[in-house]
Amino acid sequence: MGKFCLQCQDGTKLKLATKDVTVEVRGESCIVPKVKGWHCPACGDIEYADKDSSDRMWEAVEALGAKAKARDAAILAHARKRLKLTQKQAAELTGGGHNAFSRYERGEAVPMRAVINLFKLLDKHPELVKELA
Ligand SMILES: [Zn+2]
Repeated sequence: MGKFCLQCQDGTKLKLATKDVTVEVRGESCIVPKVKGWHCPACGDIEYADKDSSDRMWEAVEALGAKAKARDAAILAHARKRLKLTQKQAAELTGGGHNAFSRYERGEAVPMRAVINLFKLLDKHPELVKELA
């Protein structure tokens, strides 16, 4: 008896296999080897066949999330210091509350991608910060 993909919902059949799966979280990715489960050939969704596979996938997702958070925190802290802004001044530019920036830099909150993008741009063109004040 076949299993059908619950994501695709169009009768796509899942295939039981053990294969290496690429996991991506906010721009960070890694390969989790030998994931045993029912794989969807269309969307890549997986129904895990054992707890070990599902545990290893979740560990990878959490590790990538932590890595992305640390990367974003470092980008923001670096750019902010280069712009000679306090965390409070940086938060005034991006919104989200007066302590939003210190929370981003400590990895306690995930900034919106627009915040990261703004500070990447300002890091390259620091003179533009005057336009925002
Ligand atoms: Zn699917």
